[in-house]
Amino acid sequence: MVIAVLSGKGGTGKTTVAVNLALSLKEQGRIILVDADVEEPNAALYLKPDLALDEAILVTVPVPEIDRELCDYCGRCADFCQYGALAVIAEGVLTFQELCHGCGGCALVCPKKAIREVPRQIGTVERGGLKGWSSGRGGSISASPSPYR
Ligand code: SF4
Ligand code: SF4
Repeated sequence: MVIAVLSGKGGTGKTTVAVNLALSLKEQGRIILVDADVEEPNAALYLKPDLALDEAILVTVPVPEIDRELCDYCGRCADFCQYGALAVIAEGVLTFQELCHGCGGCALVCPKKAIREVPRQIGTVERGGLKGWSSGRGGSISASPSPYR
């Protein structure tokens, strides 16, 4: 059985419900709790899983890197970007990686092929067992993507 606890609004108690639901079901069998909140994955703060069991998986988005030798400052990349992540100035192209959504469009429209995409880490996915959890039925796993700033 898969149970999803979700809401479009923060502060409604999603994590509290999910954590307590998992705890209330832990004697019923193997429980996997996945905290998929991309902004505030806090289930691990309540449950304190042993996250050292597995290596964290890095989560990245591709962001533009400008080759200043090729760029002629035409501005097409900045015109294309709907997120204001690029700005063309007299001395070059500024990139604001925090604003970039990784769509790849700027690299596509660049007539000089001056943009290459490089990975920017935006988080990690971690997995771990829970201390003190009943292990007679296979124990438990908690996983959460964590923002990386
Ligand atoms: S589109 Fe390409 S050539 Fe034009 S400003 Fe952007 S990076 Fe430079
Ligand atoms: S990859 Fe997309 S969002 Fe990021 S800078 Fe380029 S056009 Fe903007």
